[in-house]
Amino acid sequence: MIQLELLWQLQKHYLELNKLEKKLKDLNKREEIEELNVKIHQYEYDLENKKTRLEVNNMKINRYNSKINQLKYEIREIEDKLYSGKIRDIKQLTYMENENKKIKEEIEKIETEIILLMDEIDNLKDEIVEVEKTYDELKENLKQTITENENLIHRVESDIKKEKEIIQEISTGIDESSLKKFNTLLKNKGKAVAEIEGDKCTGCYMVVPLSILSKLKYSNNITYCDNCGRILYYKKQEE
Ligand SMILES: [Zn+2]
Repeated sequence: MIQLELLWQLQKHYLELNKLEKKLKDLNKREEIEELNVKIHQYEYDLENKKTRLEVNNMKINRYNSKINQLKYEIREIEDKLYSGKIRDIKQLTYMENENKKIKEEIEKIETEIILLMDEIDNLKDEIVEVEKTYDELKENLKQTITENENLIHRVESDIKKEKEIIQEISTGIDESSLKKFNTLLKNKGKAVAEIEGDKCTGCYMVVPLSILSKLKYSNNITYCDNCGRILYYKKQEE
């Protein structure tokens, strides 16, 4: 293949390689993964918090239940005495009946408390199920994102490897001095070979003199732009 064509092809692959390398850099879903991790931690915290509240409520209920048992025992003692017929003192009887009433009221109060706590426990249990569901989904999501990310990286990396191999292969067909100039231009100007569009160099958008244009059209010599120094490429119309 003619040198100019090889240089043109070489540039194409270098540009593709640049694109792939940039893609690889942008590809990392690090932010997305970080965001998911933060969310997962929030749910973890929420879940722990709810489970602790559940435990505390259960402990409270146990405490209330033993309190009720104790109070019921007290009532039995009072009633045993009341109905034994041994106490005849009216004052004392009234006092004991009052005590009995007070204890019963207290039991009622505690029972109401227990019902409230049990309601809260039911709610907490429902909430825990919901939070656990979301938590599992998030974890699955994170796992998937990490895998997708890795797969994408592998794919782009393998494309990069292929492009480098092609670049190597094309380079071996180009003479050393042209390749050296090409590489310097590529390094300094981003693009080494500039296509002619109309009568302009697409590297600097200056008009290329007719004499150079006709030289490009009819020969395959490497010609440089007078203005920007890039290698000029004229795409010959296929006839
Ligand atoms: Zn130019």
